[in-house]
Amino acid sequence: MLWYRLNTLAPAPGFLTHLRRLILEFFWSGMHWAPVGVLHLPLKEGGQGLKCLYTQVRVFRLQALQRLFYSARSSAWSILAHAFLHRFQGLRYDRQLFYLSPRGFPRDLSGLPVFYQDLLRTWKLFLTTRSVAATVGADLLTEPLLHNPQLRVQVAESRSVRQRLVLAEVTRVGDLLDYDRRDWLDPLTLARRMGLSSLRTPRRILQEVKAALTPAARAYVSRALCEGAPRPSLTPGPLDLSIGPPPRRSQQTPHPFTASRLHELQPVSFQIAPRKYLYTLTLHTHTLVSRPDTKWRDLLPPLEGEQPRWASLYSTLVPRPIGDISWRLLHGAVSTGVFLTRFTPIPDTCPFCNVRETLGHVYLECARLQPLFRLLANILLRFWLHFSPHLFIYTLPICGPTKSRDLLVNLLLALAKTAIYKTRERRLAHETSCDCGAVFRSSVHSHIQAEFLWAASTDSLDAFEERWALSGVLCSVTPSGSLRLTL
Ligand SMILES: [Zn+2]
Repeated sequence: MLWYRLNTLAPAPGFLTHLRRLILEFFWSGMHWAPVGVLHLPLKEGGQGLKCLYTQVRVFRLQALQRLFYSARSSAWSILAHAFLHRFQGLRYDRQLFYLSPRGFPRDLSGLPVFYQDLLRTWKLFLTTRSVAATVGADLLTEPLLHNPQLRVQVAESRSVRQRLVLAEVTRVGDLLDYDRRDWLDPLTLARRMGLSSLRTPRRILQEVKAALTPAARAYVSRALCEGAPRPSLTPGPLDLSIGPPPRRSQQTPHPFTASRLHELQPVSFQIAPRKYLYTLTLHTHTLVSRPDTKWRDLLPPLEGEQPRWASLYSTLVPRPIGDISWRLLHGAVSTGVFLTRFTPIPDTCPFCNVRETLGHVYLECARLQPLFRLLANILLRFWLHFSPHLFIYTLPICGPTKSRDLLVNLLLALAKTAIYKTRERRLAHETSCDCGAVFRSSVHSHIQAEFLWAASTDSLDAFEERWALSGVLCSVTPSGSLRLTL
């Protein structure tokens, strides 16, 4: 019902903001430290796949325009839409409004119903271009004289001339034709309609329009005048429009590893632009351009060709809450002394070693982590892997032939991060058992034991061994069918 209403009605001011706040509070309990734009990215691009309400509403508007421009059946809605657009500001434009130059795009949209204002505002967000100007048929006759980048009429760039043309109802190429005389409009008649005593401006308008037309268009006009062609119809034919990312406004160079995909998106034909493309284009248009994909780009520069493996953070082995810690860590959305000291009385030093507690210190450098890292290095070596800070933070890509091992290693890395996170919280709350190595070991054990009990009860010990007892590194199953933990 919500989507239906947002599809057909413009929401009240503040409605979407309020709704979004409620959704974020529900999912994140008020602790959403990662920017909202990031949450809306797909999981494999470093987001949480949360649907963006603003983006969805804009996509609805673009889809409404697709139906208006290209739908074979003209519904009652589209007849009404054409009538509203045609009357807008006395321009007598309709779909032509959508290919006026951005400079000429009317700022004051108050003459339109709210829904149609929303359509035009959404359209203005993107770079939209028409491949060529019309040269024949009703399309040529309805070609705009004002703000038309493909029919430059310089004299009409003057504000007063434009106003006079609108009042004279001469805003399209067809309006300059006199079918009774079978010729272009007489400059004297045009001057009278524009309320001018001098013929200079009308002559210039006629000269410039004729000069701007292509030979094919001029030939069509001559033929139409000879044959007494029908008056311009209200709506031109389907528009050959493309839609793409807007030109960058600021001089700010985008981050080389930006979370935005805007630079990758190419303009596409608006007629066949799929919903997925429109959603991605809209989502990336106003957010994330200058934001790096992960906070660790500067702290731990990735090796050549390396990047965060977002898709490896969650898997069938890594449950959601555990994967969330790794995800938040990559976005720097975890608490540190340096961050907390800005708005709480908590000191900015590490609760274990009193060194300034930065993100790098909490998860890589603190002396308390070294036994845990030695244990991980030992385990990974038995899987023929070399433990490194890069592997710990950016995780292991999941490859087909080594999938079982990769899934298991990513689970171990995620459990290690969770152990660091939890023991730090415990220390701050003055609780005991703050040894991250011991917490890591016990969480691995409890995971394996729970899985073993489940496998034993469902008679699927073979599958358990394939998944958990790889090379006997973590555990093995004895011939009698009991579990032996080796970690
Ligand atoms: Zn420390």
